[in-house]
Amino acid sequence: MQKKSIFDLTGKTALVTGSSQGIGLALARGLAQHGAKVVLNGRNAEKLNAAVGQLREENLLAETCIFDVTDEQSSASGVAQIETSVGTIDILINNAGMQFRTPLEDFPVEKWEELFRTNVSSAFFVSRAAVAGMIERRQGKIINIASVQSELARPGIAPYTATKGAIRNLTRGMCTDWAKHGLQINAIAPGYFKTPLNAALVESAEFSEWLQKRTPAGRWGEVDELVGAAVFLSSPASSFINGHTLYVDGGITASL
Ligand code: NDP
Repeated sequence: MQKKSIFDLTGKTALVTGSSQGIGLALARGLAQHGAKVVLNGRNAEKLNAAVGQLREENLLAETCIFDVTDEQSSASGVAQIETSVGTIDILINNAGMQFRTPLEDFPVEKWEELFRTNVSSAFFVSRAAVAGMIERRQGKIINIASVQSELARPGIAPYTATKGAIRNLTRGMCTDWAKHGLQINAIAPGYFKTPLNAALVESAEFSEWLQKRTPAGRWGEVDELVGAAVFLSSPASSFINGHTLYVDGGITASL
């Protein structure tokens, strides 16, 4: 008899926040290709409908749930709606995030607050809503999307760097509180990937030249190259991996 793959996600329901485009959409597609039913999330219905349409054309199981992850109430009712109409959430990827670039001495306080609410508080709001069921069922996978900026700063993005450092440590905290309930909570820390969030960098030939020299692999990442890490951390293959941050960065954090 053939053994079931330890990476198989058949029958699992996964919520990926911020998945109408970019990294979130690539991760959702990857989980669906490995058997999961995925729920796409974002604030813009048009973008979400286009994304879910693409996945369904590829014969993948996909639904949408519109809510703003910075709003605690909307996050709680979004999770409740998914659990009633789609299925209990087995896998949660806290991916929604934003960037804002300005030298720290001029950084607007409202942007600082928006960054922390979007990149950090959101993971707390959505996880807290989903974790009750996971604890009851004694199984669940939470993956937080960190960044190479969890380790390293760059000019003009000090607050973003602070949010991604917080996500890495929130991952350790979630593991410390929730691993005993049978859950695995880990983070993926991407290097540089061409998405709308990075449009300003993608358009700069000077930045690309710097990045290619600075990255041991000598290039930008492709969003599909994050799928392996996400499937691994969503699947039975990672059943004793907890509180870990997995860097998918072409070696940038390994080298000066
Ligand atoms: P994009 O800007 O391309 O996509 C962000 C997604 O999040 C969109 O679908 C957006 O949809 C959604 N979103 C934003 N705010 C909210 C909100 N308040 N509520 C619900 N959904 C929201 O970003 P990326 O794909 O580049 O980034 C995804 C994650 O990866 C982020 O956490 C980012 O920090 C991280 N990351 C990205 C890297 C990169 O190189 N691109 C590198 C390292 C980390 P909508 O606006 O319609 O709500």
